[in-house]
Amino acid sequence: MSDIQTQITDWLNEFGGEGPETILSYFFEKYGNRAALATGLGAEGQVLTDMAARLNMPFRIFTIDTGRLYPETYKLMDRTNRRYNICIEVYFPNHLSVENYVKNNGINGFYNSVEQRKACCKARKTESLQRILSTLDVWICGLRSEQSMTRSDMKLIEWDAAHGLIKINPLIHWTEKQVWEYIRVNSVPYNPLHDKGFPSIGCQPCTRAIKEGDDIRSGRWWWESPEHKECGLHRK
Ligand code: SF4
Repeated sequence: MSDIQTQITDWLNEFGGEGPETILSYFFEKYGNRAALATGLGAEGQVLTDMAARLNMPFRIFTIDTGRLYPETYKLMDRTNRRYNICIEVYFPNHLSVENYVKNNGINGFYNSVEQRKACCKARKTESLQRILSTLDVWICGLRSEQSMTRSDMKLIEWDAAHGLIKINPLIHWTEKQVWEYIRVNSVPYNPLHDKGFPSIGCQPCTRAIKEGDDIRSGRWWWESPEHKECGLHRK
């Protein structure tokens, strides 16, 4: 077993029964500017932002602006910054990558095929993510295992081989109910689209409301089958 895998096993033993706040505090303290919280301004990201802000310690937090987000998401970003007195780092896609994508596929080419959708996510999201992650040793995400079949085997702490750094998922075992209880009890600001049937909010053309009882990821890339529903940010 490699040194990093041994270290991760030790951390899993140490932090397996701890709450997200303890885990955030440990990694922010240990890694400083080389650790950051990734948020898409969804419910889980807002919970982790609130928890991090309550620690009263400096921490990095970032998001990716694909250029296709909902207006509500920009409003929430502003509100979150003001509420917690933080400045979420915003990363934008490389303009040449987006221009090339649009030239070759059209402005909404992502509806045509899985390949064209993945190419758009690559140009608008994953290249930006790569740029941010190159400044980090640890990234912290709001993934939960019950969110989708592609996330069911993710761990609290894992080695992200695709990006070459440690990935922490402090809410991995949380239920949707726990997330919303935390939001209510702590008056955490959240995207009003959640109240209109959006469990998950990404780019405007690729996210829609779902009906009660539907799978919670079914509003994302609804024209594709479930096993394709990741954008490349969270691959192994
Ligand atoms: S979610 Fe849709 S619009 Fe956003 S980057 Fe991916 S394909 Fe493009």
